[in-house]
Amino acid sequence: MQQRQRRWNGWGWADETVPLPSSARAWLSERLGAGEPLPEAGEQSVRLPAARPLPELPATTLGDRTARLRHACGLAFPDVVVLRTGVPQAFPDAVCVPESTEQVVAVLRAAVEADVAVIVRGGGTSVVGGVTVNAGSRPTVVLSLERLRGLVALDRASLLAAFRSGTLGPDVEAALAPSRLRLGHEPQSFEFSSVGGWIATRSAGQRSTGVGKIDDLVAGLEIATPDGVWSLPPQPASAAGPELRRLVVGSEGRLGVITEATLRVRPLPECRDGAAVLVPGWSTGLEVCRALLQTGPVPEVVRVSDPDETSFGIALTEVPRVAAGVRDLILGMRRFHRGCIVLLEWAGAPQDVVLARQAAARIWQDAGGLALGRTPWRRWLAERFRHPYLRDVLLSAGWGVDTLETAAPWSALEALHGAVRHAMTAAAEAAAFRTAVLCHLSHAYRDGASLYFTWLWPLRRGDEIGQWRLLKDAASEAIVASGGTITHHHGVGTMHASYLEREVGTSGVAALAAAARALDPHGVLNPGVLLPPSLRPDGAGRGKP
Ligand SMILES: Cc1cc2nc3c(=O)[nH]c(=O)nc-3n(C[C@H](O)[C@H](O)[C@H](O)COP(=O)(O)OP(=O)(O)OC[C@H]3O[C@@H](n4cnc5c(N)ncnc54)[C@H](O)[C@@H]3O)c2cc1C
Repeated sequence: MQQRQRRWNGWGWADETVPLPSSARAWLSERLGAGEPLPEAGEQSVRLPAARPLPELPATTLGDRTARLRHACGLAFPDVVVLRTGVPQAFPDAVCVPESTEQVVAVLRAAVEADVAVIVRGGGTSVVGGVTVNAGSRPTVVLSLERLRGLVALDRASLLAAFRSGTLGPDVEAALAPSRLRLGHEPQSFEFSSVGGWIATRSAGQRSTGVGKIDDLVAGLEIATPDGVWSLPPQPASAAGPELRRLVVGSEGRLGVITEATLRVRPLPECRDGAAVLVPGWSTGLEVCRALLQTGPVPEVVRVSDPDETSFGIALTEVPRVAAGVRDLILGMRRFHRGCIVLLEWAGAPQDVVLARQAAARIWQDAGGLALGRTPWRRWLAERFRHPYLRDVLLSAGWGVDTLETAAPWSALEALHGAVRHAMTAAAEAAAFRTAVLCHLSHAYRDGASLYFTWLWPLRRGDEIGQWRLLKDAASEAIVASGGTITHHHGVGTMHASYLEREVGTSGVAALAAAARALDPHGVLNPGVLLPPSLRPDGAGRGKP
């Protein structure tokens, strides 16, 4: 059987796409005006410079153009633009694919010996420049964990499962399913992202409100450093100094290569149920979610779309004429003029799910919500991993789209939402183009929640990255000024590195740099990621990221 190919210059499988309904096209044309389609260069037309000489590496090393091109970038907006137009800035000199922890250590030692930069790569789905090769003076190797896959051990009694770090989402769940277990960590990039990448970036899955972020699911770690293997075995709890596993979670490859992780797993739920509710406005939606989180029982999924995202979501959904008529009638009601969709899902024993749904219904009814039945939830379940294909479709249609995420306490969320929307809209206006800034709340906690913004704009040929940067900078400044975190789950990468100090302070950055210096004294690992490039652990200069 022929292996399915991944798209080389965008999201997902090369043979898969999603349609852009005419209603969505009309929505975009009306809100944004027409843009200029981004052309697509052929894979063979990209010109690669000759690879720089490398020492012999103690693991399989690929130097062919396909391997070098397909490991040059992640999936951030600028990555996709440079790939599609056929002009990536820099390429790895080779791609190394170790098959064991020992080989990873040996490669790192060889890299130190020869002063070679090493970009650690899991699934390559970073949207913050975490795996993008930058032009530097040192030769660069991508260390891909694609051959370090699979379940290593399952401790059924303790509900702990150890995986090699390159294991992708579907393979994690497939390995657990025969034991009636699941991890439940399902980021939208689930099909292509890896255990090690999730941990390195502090990822959040779509069911994180119920199962927790990856931070909560990591029990033990094995990390390869140039010095050898650093083992942090699973402990249910400990008082043996600060929690070092937490230091590695979110370290984005700067403190070593995660080669194995022991994860907290749980029984598969006996039953799932979901609901969609229309509430009169954004503040009501936030209040419903806060009440759900603070009074319980806590749903596994909680999402509220703001009025603009609700409106675009409707434009994206093709429904039969009769259903559309009923929907328009409801939306025509004065109280739902700026209506917001709330999506909820519960999982567990059937009687618990029924009780949780009833408790939630009391909350949304008190808030004036209108239950829309289960169809929108079922549609979300069926389509949630297909939405990313839209970016490539939109680029071909002339519209740019990207996403960013933050989080803040409940008391700050509404102002944060307003500040980001205002800053991005004003920045676009000043540059004489329009933007639509859509937002949903997801990943909710007792003390706050994450806001996830999707922003669209009409593309100007040749200035796609300039337009993107203008909007991204405006949003990032508004986020830090409003007390939000610069990233809730995408990570710092190179894109947010200059904001880290404003969030964790000078001492925080110094502590992280000291940890990097201790574990990677020659600064070969992921230059420019997480910590600003000027902070090379050995103090020597480094190429600008
Ligand atoms: C369409 C799309 C949807 C997304 N949806 C979500 C989402 O719902 N939730 C979410 O959290 N994120 C999401 N992301 C972002 C991305 O998928 C996550 O950051 C993910 O955790 C990255 O995993 P990866 O295996 O692809 O890592 P990579 O992209 O390969 O690497 C990410 C970073 O981690 C480092 N790294 C990778 N593996 C290791 C390792 N074993 N040891 C040390 N460092 C390592 C890399 O050097 C890099 O800095 C999405 C991305 C896309 C493109």
